[in-house]
Amino acid sequence: MSLSENIKELYQEVILDHNKQPRNFGEIENCTNKASGFNQLCGDKIDLYLIIKDNIIQEVKFNGKGCAISKASASIMTTILKGKTTDEARALFEEFHNIVTSPTDEDFDEIELGKLAVFAGVREFPARVKCASLAWHTLMNALDNNNNSNN
Ligand code: ZN
Repeated sequence: MSLSENIKELYQEVILDHNKQPRNFGEIENCTNKASGFNQLCGDKIDLYLIIKDNIIQEVKFNGKGCAISKASASIMTTILKGKTTDEARALFEEFHNIVTSPTDEDFDEIELGKLAVFAGVREFPARVKCASLAWHTLMNALDNNNNSNN
């Protein structure tokens, strides 16, 4: 079975859905971590807000403007992150990065990847990799960027 047909369909569906109804859209006033990201190639902009307590991501929201893929990617990311430890979040970033930068004919275990599997669809559109990656790079910055020191 060709995984890429599956993924392509899933990708379009999920991107459309999240673009139309972004999850966790907004700001967090008393956030512990935040960062902004900008993708010059496309003009995508994102602000990411997190509440991290005891190394666990309790709350995450994003705000921003951009193309469907950047917005959907941020939305999907926020749904994956809640309840994860910061180490798990970093591992997810690595996994995400592997998915979007690997050759299009490389197969993945969709079950194991879960929600991340959809990003394999981005490989079909190399120009969009930066759009899809923006939220994740912003996340890495946010994790390193505490708002207060007693976190
Ligand atoms: Zn974009």
